[in-house]
Amino acid sequence: MAARNGVQSLPGCVIAETIDSFRNWRLDAGRRGTIGLVTTMGALHEGHLTLVRQAKSECAQVIVTIFVNPLQFGPNEDFSKYPRTLQRDVELLEREGVNIVFHPTTAEIYPNGQKDELTTVAPPSSLIATMEGAFRPGHFLGVATVVAKLFNIVQPDVAYFGEKDYQQLLVVRRMVTDLNMPLRIAAVPTVREADGLALSSRNVYLTPEQRKVAPTLQKALCQVRDAIVSGASPAQALSSGRALVNNTPGFTLQYLEVCHAETLAPCQTAVAPMVILIAARLGEVRLIDNIVVR
Ligand code: AMP
Repeated sequence: MAARNGVQSLPGCVIAETIDSFRNWRLDAGRRGTIGLVTTMGALHEGHLTLVRQAKSECAQVIVTIFVNPLQFGPNEDFSKYPRTLQRDVELLEREGVNIVFHPTTAEIYPNGQKDELTTVAPPSSLIATMEGAFRPGHFLGVATVVAKLFNIVQPDVAYFGEKDYQQLLVVRRMVTDLNMPLRIAAVPTVREADGLALSSRNVYLTPEQRKVAPTLQKALCQVRDAIVSGASPAQALSSGRALVNNTPGFTLQYLEVCHAETLAPCQTAVAPMVILIAARLGEVRLIDNIVVR
């Protein structure tokens, strides 16, 4: 890997570590055709690669960012031990035909620090007061701020986000609308293991015993969906879904909700489109999942 002006060349794929070097690439090679962006925190899996493949199928140039964003982690969360597998990630992205990987340092993204000196993007409370926003105070301010910065640096035509992080997807969509950002947000369905567990970089933390029971999250979601489709009220469906998780050893349920799929307002009655969202702790590992009922 030869480094020149902050850009490292690999066959067919380059890595930029600074905003200047990324912008140099973007001014030249990155000017040709539609630009697709996939933002990630690395530790890539088939979920991320599915976003990349969709971007490749629709865009002339595909850019992937790898940045573990400290601003979206709470003080007691796993920022320092979040899995970092850069070499392997880059090899996977090369194989997918990604044109450039942007992998900045924290200082490159937050030269003025991450607290009082930073201009931030605050999403509306209607989208962030509940669920992930309630259990992870400040999380979506961190997400919206870094995604806005990455959009400004990359200037993509389309950015691909996973439905796996459903509340995040809506927060990003709303930011783009409210701040008149000139790009389209494309949603990609959740990629799962054969037994239903949603792929996540955090699944590597699970012990073999925890891994065996982890698909209970998706089972609870499907149970709630099936009950609603069969005529149960959201409240009835949720109480049996919550019981399933609470009665499975190892789980601490944080939330299981049925919401309107576009506003995230809780559904008192079943009216599509709905999204059923869940978060639970399995030992030290926090897992989230959802299914959309269209
Ligand atoms: P992360 O690296 O966790 O920040 O995720 C980067 C992007 O990949 C986000 O848009 C996620 O929603 C998406 N993603 C993560 N896991 C999955 C999955 N299992 N299926 C689809 N997209 C995913």
